[in-house]
Amino acid sequence: MLDKPLNEIAHALRAGKISSVELTEIALQKAQTGSNLNAYISLLEEQALAQAKITDKRLAAGDESPLCGIPMAHKDLFCAQGTLTSCGSKILSNFISPYDATVVEKLADAGMVCIGKTNMDEFAMGSTNESSYYGPALNPWNNQHVPGGSSGGAAVAVANGDVPIATGTDTGGSVRQPAALCGLTGIKPTYGRISRYGMVAFASSFDQAGVLANSAQGASLVLEAMCGFDEKDSTSIKEQTIDFSGQLNKPLKGLRVGLPKQYFTDALNPEIGAAIEAAKAELSKAGVQWVDIDLPNSELGIPCYYVLAPAEASSNLSRYDGVRYGHRADEYDDLASMYINSRTEGFGKEVKRRILVGTYALSSGYYDAYYIKAQKLRRLIVNDFQAAFEQCDVILGPTTPNTAPKLGQISDDPAAMYLEDIYTVTINLAGLPALSIPVGFDKQELPIGMQLIGRYMDEATLLNVAHQFQTLTDWHLKTPKTHGKQSRGAA
Ligand code: GLN
Repeated sequence: MLDKPLNEIAHALRAGKISSVELTEIALQKAQTGSNLNAYISLLEEQALAQAKITDKRLAAGDESPLCGIPMAHKDLFCAQGTLTSCGSKILSNFISPYDATVVEKLADAGMVCIGKTNMDEFAMGSTNESSYYGPALNPWNNQHVPGGSSGGAAVAVANGDVPIATGTDTGGSVRQPAALCGLTGIKPTYGRISRYGMVAFASSFDQAGVLANSAQGASLVLEAMCGFDEKDSTSIKEQTIDFSGQLNKPLKGLRVGLPKQYFTDALNPEIGAAIEAAKAELSKAGVQWVDIDLPNSELGIPCYYVLAPAEASSNLSRYDGVRYGHRADEYDDLASMYINSRTEGFGKEVKRRILVGTYALSSGYYDAYYIKAQKLRRLIVNDFQAAFEQCDVILGPTTPNTAPKLGQISDDPAAMYLEDIYTVTINLAGLPALSIPVGFDKQELPIGMQLIGRYMDEATLLNVAHQFQTLTDWHLKTPKTHGKQSRGAA
């Protein structure tokens, strides 16, 4: 049931075919049976069932929220009152949050039932979920492969059919990339659409919450519930039009879709290229117009992001000192050694690498050469997108250069890991909305994702294209249940 699209589940709840408590029990059981996939850092049995009871009462009283009673899971960097919020790190492995993130509060208000907190790369740094202190999550399509990262556990929870949606965050691709690698729909909205209050910070000028779902329609409903101004986040956008689900059925005829020449090169795995060609043929049938566009500074995305994101991370992570909360070393001689030992023990290898790179880039003497230079590149990338959107309404390309790597295949090679983000980081540098939808499988039966990038604040068009594509195709209905491709939904 829980691997069905969200609207079908909502319908069953409303028709009284199943209760929220029953659904939540199924979700928890599914999550427990799939525990070998390591999708969760904590399961919240008691709390979820208590919440489900309340939503059943709400449903009985005629609650109108389309999300009421539906089980979901939060990435373990959203603070949720009274629960562990570890951010995939040893340094926060004893941190029980005293408050709720705005996202957590909003989805609870909408009646969603949180069954657990999902596994993730430590501090959301990574593209495979292998940097988690709690061990890697495994891809349900093939357990030998990673699910992508950093929102890897969220992708596993949805792809395995435990829950129809899960929250994620995307600083450089961490919603879209695991969505692509696990055959899901994943959207990262415009920077500032969703409050960052209560989200453990990685790189504050990039971080943005998003949704992993099994359909564009489900994603649009949940995104609507998450968006909105929040005075507790100073970068939150005040004026917002939030109507995504109401615009899913617009015809695509005449929509101008841009194809950046920099995205379709030899760097792209040919099987991904072929799946995207087939997807383009479907969209052509729906009447879209193709426009060749140029994003000349695309290749600067990786070096630019991997200076700026670590710079911001090095500053954000300086708060973990073992004093007020988080891991504190057992042994130390004085205050300085307490800081040093706590941080040495508490952070993993990738996080330490980022702190070192970021501190270096911000240090006097290197600040102009690296940090300021990267800020200038960021502007060039923003300008590229602005110019492109004068010629087209949406940009289409791959989400990732490859399908899911094997566990351990790239985890010891930071440069190879960083290159997996080549198609995603520029969007975060520009603060734009983008989503990934499933468009096929490679020869190993691993999912392939396609990315759509939108104008500033134009999530509605992205979700409209994604939904129309999903009415024409059934890639989003496939599930890894049997290792063939069993259908989700009505088919
Ligand atoms: N893979 C990228 C990184 O490691 C993006 C991570 C993210 O979006 N949180 O920085």
